[in-house]
Amino acid sequence: MKIVRFAAEGKTRYGILNGSAIQVVEEKPFRRIVTTDKYYELKKVQLLAPCTPTKIIALGLNYHDHARELKVPVPDSPLTFLKPSTAVIGHGDNIIYPSASHRVDYEGELAVVIKKPVWRVATRDALKYVLGYTCFNDVTARDLQKKDSQWTRAKGFDTFAAVGPWIETELDLKKVEIETYLNGKLKQSGSARGLIYSIPEIINFISHVMTLLPGDIIATGTPSGVGPMYPGDTVEVKIKQIGTLRNFVVANGSKPA
Ligand code: MG
Repeated sequence: MKIVRFAAEGKTRYGILNGSAIQVVEEKPFRRIVTTDKYYELKKVQLLAPCTPTKIIALGLNYHDHARELKVPVPDSPLTFLKPSTAVIGHGDNIIYPSASHRVDYEGELAVVIKKPVWRVATRDALKYVLGYTCFNDVTARDLQKKDSQWTRAKGFDTFAAVGPWIETELDLKKVEIETYLNGKLKQSGSARGLIYSIPEIINFISHVMTLLPGDIIATGTPSGVGPMYPGDTVEVKIKQIGTLRNFVVANGSKPA
C-alpha cells in the first residue's frame, strides 16, 4: 500500500494511492487507516512530504563502499546524526543551494518511517514499529562537513532532507535497489543488502538513545557514488519497489516552499 500526503482544495490530507487515484483517509495513517469515499486524481494534487517527522535520524557510513570512497574507516557501532524537521521537502520541491557552501552533494538513501512510539525495542521486534519505507535524499554540504567537527550545518540547511514521493508499506528489503540520477544520468546504484547495520539493528540502537515517534524518519545511509549538484540540476532517488523522488536544485535567494 502506498500512503500519500497531499494538498488539494486548500487542505492537507492523507490518502492511499491506487494507480492514478488517491483515496482520502480520515486521519493521520499511523494508528489505523480509515478510508473515505472521497477520491482525487494524482495529477491534480500537490504531493507533500509523506510525513511530518519530529526528527530525522540519519546513518553515516552504513555501506562499506561509501566509507571507502570517503577514505574513512567503518564505525564499530552505528554512526548517527540528526537532520532538523525544517529541512524536509517533498517530491517536486526545490533544493536551495546555500551561499555558505561550494560543494553540495546528493546522497540517495532508503528511509524508514516510524508507525508508533518506540523506546528500547529488541532487534527482533523492531519492524513492528515501522509504518513503511520511502526514498530520501540526504543533501550534504560536503565542504562544510569536512570543515565542522559536528555536521549540524552541513546536513541541516532548509531543503536538505528530500522525502517521498510516498510511503510504501510493503517492501521486500532483500530486493531493494537504490539508484540516484542527476539530470537523467545514473550516479549511484546500491543494494540494501549492502547495509552494514540492518534496519532492525538500527531501530534497536537508536531506540536505546531516544524515543522514536510516529512519522519520524530514519535515513539508512548512502551507497557509493556520491557527488556534487549545482543550480539547474534535477536529482532523482529511485527505489523500484517504492517510486521516484524528484527534486530541483536552485540558487540561493528563492524561499523554501
Ligand atoms: Mg547520508
